[in-house]
Amino acid sequence: MKTKTALNPTIFVIFGGTGDLNKRKLAPALYNLFMEGYMPEKFAIIGTGRTEFTDESYKTALEEAVNEFSRSGKVKKDKWDDFGNTIHYCPTDFAQPKTFENLKAAVEKYQKEYGAGTQVIFYLAVAPNFFPIIAECLQKYKLTQDEDNSRIVIEKPFGHDLESAKELNTLLSTIFTEKQIYRIDHYLGKETVQNMMAFRFANSLFEPLWNRSYIDHVQISVTEQLGVGDRGGYYEGSGALRDMIQNHLLQLLCLVGMEAPINFDADEIRNRKVEVLKAMRPFSSEDIRFSTVRGQYSKGWVEGKEVPGYRQEKGVDAHSNTETFAAVKFHIDNWRWQGIPFYLRTGKRLNQTSSLITIQFRDVPHQIFSAGVTENWQQNRLVISIQPEMSIRMQVQAKRPGLDMVLNPVDMVFDYKGTYEGDTPEAYETLLLDAMMGDQTLFMRGDQVEAAWELVMPILNTWESKKSINFPNYPADSWGPEEAEALIARDGFHWFNLPLKNKD
Ligand code: NAP
Repeated sequence: MKTKTALNPTIFVIFGGTGDLNKRKLAPALYNLFMEGYMPEKFAIIGTGRTEFTDESYKTALEEAVNEFSRSGKVKKDKWDDFGNTIHYCPTDFAQPKTFENLKAAVEKYQKEYGAGTQVIFYLAVAPNFFPIIAECLQKYKLTQDEDNSRIVIEKPFGHDLESAKELNTLLSTIFTEKQIYRIDHYLGKETVQNMMAFRFANSLFEPLWNRSYIDHVQISVTEQLGVGDRGGYYEGSGALRDMIQNHLLQLLCLVGMEAPINFDADEIRNRKVEVLKAMRPFSSEDIRFSTVRGQYSKGWVEGKEVPGYRQEKGVDAHSNTETFAAVKFHIDNWRWQGIPFYLRTGKRLNQTSSLITIQFRDVPHQIFSAGVTENWQQNRLVISIQPEMSIRMQVQAKRPGLDMVLNPVDMVFDYKGTYEGDTPEAYETLLLDAMMGDQTLFMRGDQVEAAWELVMPILNTWESKKSINFPNYPADSWGPEEAEALIARDGFHWFNLPLKNKD
C-alpha cells in the first residue's frame, strides 16, 4: 500500500495523448489520483499527438473520456476545473523531430515555474515502432539528462521477440539508466496480484506448504469472452503467446514461484522473479509437441448473437496462422518446484472472462472415509481470482449438515467486495503513482523481459515455421481446442474454471 507522501512537482508528458489508452486508462487514473489526494501539489499533464487540438479542446476531450471511463463516474465539476487547469496539448509528430522543440519549450516552462527537483515522466502510449525514435528525440533535445528527475514509461509490447527486445534494451541503455526506465506490465498493478506478495509473505501459514511436497500442480488461466474486435491488424502480428503468456501470465507464474525476498526493495523482488525465469526448463522440440497447444476461434454464438471467426475479423488474413488461444505446460527446475507442472492457458472468445491462479494441493496420504462419504471428494485448492471477481478461496472438505456423514468441498472466501468498502484503485493508478514515487517494484527490469522472451522463443519459432493444419479449431463461447483438455488430462488433471454468477 502507498502512503501519501509529498511528491516533487511532476510534469507528465503523454506521447499518444490522443489515443485509446490515454482515454480509457491514463487520463481517468490521473484524475482519480488527483481526487484521492495522491497527486503532487504542483503538476502538469502535457498530451501530444498529431491531431489538432487547442489546450481547451483537448481538456474537453479528456473530460469526456474521464466521464465515460473513470471508475468514479462522471467528474465533479469544481474538482475537474482544478484538474483541467493542469492539462495542456503540444502537437508533436515523430516523423518531424523538429516538433520536439515545442515540447522541450513546454517542459522547460514548467520546470522553471516549479523549480529545482521537478520530475518529468515521459509516458510512451504509442505503437512500439515509435519507442526508438521518441527515445532518440528525447536524448537529442536533452530532455533526459537529469537521471534523478526524468523517467520513461514504456507500454507493452516490449519487443516482438528476444532479438528486438534486446535491441530496444540496448538502445534505451545508451540514453537512460535502468533506474529511469519503467517497463509496464499492467497486470502487476492489479490489486489482487499485489496481494499475492502479502498473502505469501505476510502469513506464516502458507509458506511451509508452498513447495513440491504439498502442491501437486498450479494453473494460471486468463480467459476472455471478447474476440479481437477492431484490433485484428495489431493482433495478426502478435498472437496469444506473445500478447499474454510472454508477459502477464509468466509474471503471475513468477509471483507464485519466487523465493521469499529479503525485503521489499524493487531490485530484491525483481531478482527473485528473474531467478524463477532462469530456472524454467527450456523447451525441446519434443516438449513443444506434447506440452503446448495453440488454437484459433471460428465463428459461433455468444449470448444469442452470432460472432465472426478470427479469420473473418477486420484486418485479419483469411488464412491466418495467428493463434488466439495458447496453453503451455511449464516446469521450474529447482528444489522447491522440481516435478510440479505449471499449466498456463489464455485465449479469446472463450466461455468466460476471468483471470485465475489455482494452486492444487496434494491429496491426503491415507483415506479414512468410505466411498459413499467421499463421493464429492476434491483435493484442497487455493484459488486466487484476479478478475472480474477479486477473491481468494481456500477450498476444503467439510461435513455436510445432517445425520449422515457426507463430505462436500466448501470455500473459505476472502472477497474484496465483502471485506472492504469503496472501489479498489485501477492498476494504472497504482503504476502511475509508483512512477511518480520512483518505485520500480511493479515494473519489469530489462533482464526480466529478456528472460521471458528467451523462454518462449522456441515455441514461437516452431509455431511460426509450422503452420497449423487445423485452424480454426475451437468455436466461440467454448473452452478452447480439445487438445488443451488433453494436454492437462494426460497428467490426470483438468482445467479449473470458477463458477461465476455473472459472466462479463
Ligand atoms: P492508439 O489509440 O492507436 O493511439 C496511438 C497514439 O499514437 C495516438 O495518440 C496517435 O496520435 C499517436 N501517434 C501515432 N503516430 C504518431 C506520430 N507519427 N507522431 C505523433 N503521434 C503519433 O493506440 P493505443 O490503443 O492507445 O495504444 C498505445 C500503446 O499502448 C500501444 O503500444 C499498445 O500496445 C499499448 N496498450 C494499449 C492498451 C489499450 O487499452 N488501448 C492496453 C495495453 C497496452 P495522433 O493520431 O493524434 O497522431
